[in-house]
Amino acid sequence: MSGLVGVPYHEVRPRLGRDLSCRELVEVYLGAIEAQDGSVRAYLTVTADQARQEAEALDRRLASGEPLPPLAGMPVALKDNLCTRGVRTTCGSRILEPFVPPYDATAVRRLREAGAVVLGKTNLDEFAMGSSTENSGFGPTRNPWSLEHVPGGSSGGSAAAVAAGEAVAALGSDTGGSIRQPASLCGIVGLKPTYGRVSRYGLVAFASSLDQIGPMTLDVRDCALVLQAISGRDPHDSTSVDVPVPDFLASLEGGVRGVRVGLPAEFFGEGLDPQVREAVLRAVRVLESLGAVVEEVALPTLEYALPTYYLIACAEASSNLARYDGVAYGSRSRRAEDLYTLYARTRAEGFGPEVKRRIMLGTFALSAGYYEGFYKKAQQVRTLVRRDFDRCFQRVDVLATPTSPVAGFRLGERTADPLQMYLADVYTIPVNLAGLPGVSVPCGFADGLPVGLQLVGRPFDEATLLRVAYAYEQATEWHRARAPVLRS
Ligand code: GLN
Repeated sequence: MSGLVGVPYHEVRPRLGRDLSCRELVEVYLGAIEAQDGSVRAYLTVTADQARQEAEALDRRLASGEPLPPLAGMPVALKDNLCTRGVRTTCGSRILEPFVPPYDATAVRRLREAGAVVLGKTNLDEFAMGSSTENSGFGPTRNPWSLEHVPGGSSGGSAAAVAAGEAVAALGSDTGGSIRQPASLCGIVGLKPTYGRVSRYGLVAFASSLDQIGPMTLDVRDCALVLQAISGRDPHDSTSVDVPVPDFLASLEGGVRGVRVGLPAEFFGEGLDPQVREAVLRAVRVLESLGAVVEEVALPTLEYALPTYYLIACAEASSNLARYDGVAYGSRSRRAEDLYTLYARTRAEGFGPEVKRRIMLGTFALSAGYYEGFYKKAQQVRTLVRRDFDRCFQRVDVLATPTSPVAGFRLGERTADPLQMYLADVYTIPVNLAGLPGVSVPCGFADGLPVGLQLVGRPFDEATLLRVAYAYEQATEWHRARAPVLRS
């Protein structure tokens, strides 16, 4: 039975209701969490009893002849910034340590309705601010490929859980790369949908104009399955868009013959690890050998994307995080004497250093006298970034780039230098600024650690992204590689 761990859901599913029950499948994953999570530390909360009950309820439905819902019995993990009814949702922050939401996020509700079973809530950088999970208020997660290395972030717990066989799939959130970068560092598939494709209702807000929820899975087919379940307009989120959700699975098989793939030269320049460059260029040659047409394109605004993002994301964060004042949510300082000290002490005690840094930067960028020069300017540059992508997509169907300039770095290596940490997302951030869909798929190794290929598509064209990613995956074996913790 333990041979099921690390096997994609679509391969296990035909056995459900025959020689395998949902309960047995869930038990296998709970066993893996028990065995390994002491060293990986992917989870902040494990909801074992609830998972068992949900799995048994599904088994009863199956036994009574009901048809299998699309994700029946799929053992999933949820990033701990997604609200779960009755289950603590910390956002990786001490300030939300006692917070128990009264409702499920829409994406979570849809997953459950599709039959998925939630195993628990995964670790993240506090309020999703970071690229390594080292900013978590509850200690870092480790990379299942090497416990001395970071799993990436901020959805590092979700990525590590899937890579370590502690969940078959997970949800993450991506504001500047937080699904794709940890997917890349942990050797799994991670997709950030187009802004508006998936409802953000119940996702604790970091930067509302950039945040999106998306799947993290062992392969592209599972990714399509999860994306299908969570996509679509939601009346609870006015930024979710009412466009048809195509059948992502049906479009997987089309191949890449004639698909035009753009290589933006700027994404292969300074700062890119030579082994990562080599792996990504090899992946592009594979696509070419399958019939794709590759050409170079230009994205000259890349160099402005990082500073633009850090102005906009911090400005939005300073506004969104104003609600944590010790009154309505989460923890409250015991040392408050009046209203002012209640605010000040609750925040001083509850927020970690990175969150404080960003609130201060964002408040500054929005303040009178600086707003025009910083926030407004950043919004204007954001438009230029979007136009650069639009121009590229007049010539090509998808862009291919590295997901991250380096494979995993060591724990502690970048914590003292915020700029070094921010550079981990230099290739993913422009995609959020433009609101486009992007996916990271495993494409090799650098010094024994996984490397990801990023594919970026036109707005609401996740179907093409998945088709190209699937064609690549079918032609290669990288997605079958498993972390050492899983092989032992
Ligand atoms: N690492 C980036 C940041 O720290 C992106 C985080 C994210 O996508 N949530 O803001």
